[in-house]
Amino acid sequence: MSGNRTFTMIKPDAVEKGHIGAILEKITAAGFKIVAMKYTHLSQRDAEQFYAVHSERPFYGELVAFMSRGPIVAAILEKDNAVEDFRVLIGSTNPAEAAEGTIRKMFATDIAENAVHGSDSDENAVIEGAFHFSGREIF
Ligand code: UDP
Repeated sequence: MSGNRTFTMIKPDAVEKGHIGAILEKITAAGFKIVAMKYTHLSQRDAEQFYAVHSERPFYGELVAFMSRGPIVAAILEKDNAVEDFRVLIGSTNPAEAAEGTIRKMFATDIAENAVHGSDSDENAVIEGAFHFSGREIF
């Protein structure tokens, strides 16, 4: 059982395609409460820092360019077992392998432009939430 908060982003591909509303509907229908949210645009430097853990991976440059090419929605979500349940809701990194009904299956383009981010641990949920939100922005 994981903790009760996770962090998500609706990525530039899904924003460009007009899926913000549909994705937020899926998230809230699954029982997640939005405790912080903003519409923002990562600079190249922001994206490099956010994904620093992947800096040695071959896709890092493309990932940084993609995540900084247009606006995103960033949010902190609350629910029992938030990190694990949200990973189930979004589906596999590669949408071709994602289960039917998952957000990535429904809205992602490919393994790189995969519509949404979801934290992979309670520790990273806290770090990623703090990257985007101050305490005054979390309700
Ligand atoms: N990614 C990519 N190519 C890959 C694997 C991942 O461009 O071969 C991107 C994709 O946007 C993914 C992000 O890098 O969501 C982070 O990768 P990770 O393996 O942490 O997947 P996630 O936790 O997002 O499912």
